[in-house]
Amino acid sequence: MNSLNFPLAPFIDGRLWPELAIGEVNRLSPVDGQQLPAIMDTSDSGVDQAVSSCQRAHRDGRWRMLRPSARKAILQNLAHAIAANAEVLAELDCLSMGKAKKSLLTQDIPKAVECYRWFAELIDKMYDSVAPPMPDRYALMLRQPIGAIGAILPWNYPSENLAWKLAPALAAGNCVVLKPAEQATASVLFTAWLACECGLPPGVVNVVPGQGERAGAGLVAHPGLEAIFFTGSTDTARQIQQHAARYRVKRVALEAGGKGAALLCEDWADNGKAALDIANSIFLNAGQTCNACARVLVHRSKRDAFLEQLVTLLPDYEPGDPRLPTTRVGALVDHAVMARFEEQLADARQRGACILYGGDRRTPVTGGAYFSPTVVVDAPLASPLVQQELFGPILAVNSFETIEEGIAIVNGTRYGLAAAIYSGNPDLRCIFEYAARIESGVVYLNRYGGDDISVPFGGIKESGAMMREKGVAAFDAYSEIKSIVW
Ligand code: NAD
Repeated sequence: MNSLNFPLAPFIDGRLWPELAIGEVNRLSPVDGQQLPAIMDTSDSGVDQAVSSCQRAHRDGRWRMLRPSARKAILQNLAHAIAANAEVLAELDCLSMGKAKKSLLTQDIPKAVECYRWFAELIDKMYDSVAPPMPDRYALMLRQPIGAIGAILPWNYPSENLAWKLAPALAAGNCVVLKPAEQATASVLFTAWLACECGLPPGVVNVVPGQGERAGAGLVAHPGLEAIFFTGSTDTARQIQQHAARYRVKRVALEAGGKGAALLCEDWADNGKAALDIANSIFLNAGQTCNACARVLVHRSKRDAFLEQLVTLLPDYEPGDPRLPTTRVGALVDHAVMARFEEQLADARQRGACILYGGDRRTPVTGGAYFSPTVVVDAPLASPLVQQELFGPILAVNSFETIEEGIAIVNGTRYGLAAAIYSGNPDLRCIFEYAARIESGVVYLNRYGGDDISVPFGGIKESGAMMREKGVAAFDAYSEIKSIVW
């Protein structure tokens, strides 16, 4: 399987099973509109076999009972193998979901490698705990793997999003069935195969490709899985939460959509850093980043200065051919989203907004899905463009008068994934108080993004439930606590 041409079929017990597919999912490449290799749609019995394989691997202890040093070595081997095969992974994802190869090679894949290394290191360094001892009683609290679990993946950072789930799940000793997104399936299959080549016992990681409504829903409903870990849109998260509860009690951990915002206070130091941070956040990856800064709330007195700084940066974020080594911003994930952006922009314009920059399709490659970086000023706060996650290179800029008003606007959507405050106020207590009042899983101060693998990440409100990715919090999320009392 070490080439770019392998069947995109169910991967169970360490090998591909094309006979367990019931049909195909066909897609055009967003890079140039050419037909991509078909993805096999895993049948119900394929999902069943993947779950059975996972359960067997958990029960016989082929992974969880290995010495911590042996499990650590295998995850380290996987990190090394991913780094060594970065070109293959980048080629697969670039064609399938349109991200610039440069970005895959310098961001997505190195961050995935770092994630596997970080969790590998944790395996033989985590201690369990003892309750306060009593004269007649001791209690140990042991972290144990949950067991056979399902992980449903998005496509926007294919290797990194996979690593955020697979690395802590394996580090904690679980066995996993992965459901890759239709838009980024090949790299997930390739990574699962690499993991087996690196010494991961067969059956510890299985993959069921295909449609969300079939293979994904099949995992959610399956009584043989103890937990579902999902990352994707808020609408799918809600469906999964409902669907899972119909079949049995299981842990459902959800990472969902966002509508990140930056609050630029009156005393913000307008030296250009905020404009650059915000442009990098919303326009790199063509805006397809869950915690992207999709909204700016700038104090009325600083609005013009901010917009001037921002607009001069925008030509650097025009999309180009993602296969070229110099391109920073590639294609959107598919052609259909462009019509949605145009509808939302027309609606905002009708409601009185001004499109300050962009708002059009681009054609760096004929037949591809490319959209300009776009800045929309003064769209009404209640309009869909401000309220809904667009997942594209579109930034809404509004202004405010008082800090109370600014914080209320930041908090005024159903999402709560990421936000930033830019302020020159030397009174840190005051800034921390603002941060505490922002309804968001992550709040950045005088920066947007840049949190590394050690910092927990996840959403509140409709951006997520019961989940933090990264850091020791992720290890805990993939563990059960068992109390042993004597
Ligand atoms: P999506 O919800 O369309 O799909 C996500 C996954 O769910 C895919 O694998 C899909 O096949 C599967 N799926 C779809 N319907 C299903 C169903 N009924 N049952 C089970 N599985 C189903 O999302 P997407 O377009 O792949 O990803 C983009 C979204 O992901 C954005 O909303 C983005 O904000 C979010 N995201 C969030 C984070 C985070 O950490 N919070 C990270 C990355 C992406």
